[in-house]
Amino acid sequence: MLHIGCHLSTSKGYQHMGKAALQIGANTFQFFTRNPRGGKAKAIDEQDLAGLQAMINENEFAKLLAHAPYTLNACSADERIRKFAIEMLEGDLARMEYLPHNLYNFHPGSHVNQGVEVGVTFIAGMLNQILKPEQTTTVLLETMAGKGSEIGQNFEELQQILSRVKLIDKMGVCLDTCHIYDAGYDIVNDLDGVLAEFDSVIGLEKLYAIHLNDSMNPFRSHKDRHAKIDNGFIGLEAITRIINHPQLRNLPFFLETPNELDGYAEEIKLLRSVYK
Ligand code: FE
Ligand code: FE
Ligand code: ZN
Repeated sequence: MLHIGCHLSTSKGYQHMGKAALQIGANTFQFFTRNPRGGKAKAIDEQDLAGLQAMINENEFAKLLAHAPYTLNACSADERIRKFAIEMLEGDLARMEYLPHNLYNFHPGSHVNQGVEVGVTFIAGMLNQILKPEQTTTVLLETMAGKGSEIGQNFEELQQILSRVKLIDKMGVCLDTCHIYDAGYDIVNDLDGVLAEFDSVIGLEKLYAIHLNDSMNPFRSHKDRHAKIDNGFIGLEAITRIINHPQLRNLPFFLETPNELDGYAEEIKLLRSVYK
């Protein structure tokens, strides 16, 4: 069975997201842990979370994916911003334990003028500070398109971070199809080659989730503008190969395409129809 969902708004609570997911034919979803531009997280509503957990169990959802705010930059040159990143991540991971055994994804960060080595050191240092042996959440680094000085535009940079994390079994990778295509991994013409490269650099056992997006921009554009499925340069044929690939087909797929709920419902229906 295809495990697929999309990004949903947290504003009406957790159970509301579960209901929305079921309504659009999804069996998982992604959500922001707080306002994507940062800021304080809402108070924890245990009843709401328990309600969602019951829905997850009853409907056999795949793992959920939480997404950290975009403003989080664990490798900023500014110490206050790094400290803020640690506090946000620590708080989010504590909250994630109310929905145990799910996934938490963040953008590694932008090193600006400090260079990749300094950036990687900050990010790994932060992870070593906040990961706990008893946590049930797996923390994922997202593959990035390579806008500006984003870390994670190639598999080697992610591996450099992972290789320095002590509690490595708490870590994994979320692969964003739009981002890696924009970064210069040709998933349209050579999906097998890209996956072989991922396997040799990071290891496919570290791949936990896929952000399934088409791209508004051509190969290696380093732009990061998501398109609806089949409305971009990746196209439905390549996306069909991705969701059916033997090394990917059992992972959870998350749409981050520019859609409202009805548009997501249509994309999910389309993808289910091409899943063999
Ligand atoms: Fe992201
Ligand atoms: Fe993404
Ligand atoms: Zn993106």
